Amino acid sequence: MDRVEIKKDNLAIDRIEERCIHCGMCLKTCSNNNNIENDCINCGQCILTCPSGAIIPKYAYKKILNYLYDTNYEVMVITSPAVRVAIGDEFGFEPGTFLEKEMVGILKKLGFSKVFDTTFGADLTIMEEAQELIKRLEAKKDLPMFTSCCPSWVQYLKKYYPNKISNLSTCKSPIGMIGAMVKSYYAEYNEIDPHKIILVALTPCVSKKEEIAHNSDVDYCITTTELAMMIRERGIIFKTVSPLDFDSLIGNGSGSGLIFGSSGGVTEAVLRTAYYLINKEKAPQEFYNLVKVRGEENFKETIIDLKKYQLKVAVINQLKTIKEKEKILNDYDFIEVMTCPGGCLGGAGQPLVTISKLNEYREKRRKALYENDKNQNIKDSYENPLVIEAYNTYINKGKVILHNCHKEKINN
Ligand code: SF4
Ligand code: SF4
Ligand code: SF4
Repeated sequence: MDRVEIKKDNLAIDRIEERCIHCGMCLKTCSNNNNIENDCINCGQCILTCPSGAIIPKYAYKKILNYLYDTNYEVMVITSPAVRVAIGDEFGFEPGTFLEKEMVGILKKLGFSKVFDTTFGADLTIMEEAQELIKRLEAKKDLPMFTSCCPSWVQYLKKYYPNKISNLSTCKSPIGMIGAMVKSYYAEYNEIDPHKIILVALTPCVSKKEEIAHNSDVDYCITTTELAMMIRERGIIFKTVSPLDFDSLIGNGSGSGLIFGSSGGVTEAVLRTAYYLINKEKAPQEFYNLVKVRGEENFKETIIDLKKYQLKVAVINQLKTIKEKEKILNDYDFIEVMTCPGGCLGGAGQPLVTISKLNEYREKRRKALYENDKNQNIKDSYENPLVIEAYNTYINKGKVILHNCHKEKINN
């Protein structure tokens, strides 16, 4: 076996056979990152290192372009944080340029009727995950709690550590959260038949293509590179499009939602809210720059003072790290796991970059996300007025399911 096996029913990646030069790079990448062989968990990292472009995401963008002309549907899009700091790579911007409003303008120009920010979904994940963590700490049960927003990690856990499934947070991922809200809360509020909504997730991730195939309100997933293809196919000149704001009701997220795109971001965000929920006061300043969980390293750890609890926290990138640290995982209370190097900003749906420059690009994307969190007025999910309104008028009335997605998946 000189290369990774890609089965026909793989929902995330494909191979163009005529392009393959049998160099073995994909096998090396898979083994280096995940320490697995021929048991694909859809991370797509082999796309980024295949020298001949033989491995590609399973493209969905052509279907979306067709739907954009179909007057029977409203085609809406939700956008993950890491896309806005990478789409510029395709159009001559400096790496790490923050192009949030430009991206919204482009999506509207392409014909999407509504453009929402997945950071709103991340805020819901943070709110729910912080509460779940506190309950587990009180009950001293199912610790460490593992984060659940990376679908490749969820697949890996199910395959290799089935006895740890109860440690996984039951929260839906940010796209799962906002997807549920678009098809219920938003649709109800605006009197739209949810069956007439085609909801597209624009993400840096190819694994989300697998995630939405199970148990999700999101209909299609496209990557940052697919957005670039759509822009080119439609002949849109990126730099001439007017910047726009996200649509509202479920439009904007907090700074906490934004840093989800970087390794350590989920941890920092959840701990800000957990501190507030436990102590009924804003977290101290160091929670807004948790340097010990930031950055590219595959294993980071720290102890966080939540007053009532001294929380042992670990942040893991690349699934090979799980095996390397297997013996000490039970020493922690909270563990964030992301499959891609550096977190989602290093996802396989991001623009292709020369391998020697990958680290530099990831670093610049990370800087852009944290810089923008720093400049946000609302840094905490619990302070986001749109989140407060959604809880008061909808979520607290039990009108939407924000949990148990993985449990359902596991039982399938
Ligand atoms: S890295 Fe690409 S070219 Fe090399 S063996 Fe794998 S698919 Fe083929
Ligand atoms: S997508 Fe990820 S898990 Fe699947 S073969 Fe490629 S590197 Fe390995
Ligand atoms: S780390 Fe992010 S981009 Fe990578 S597989 Fe997980 S969710 Fe997708």
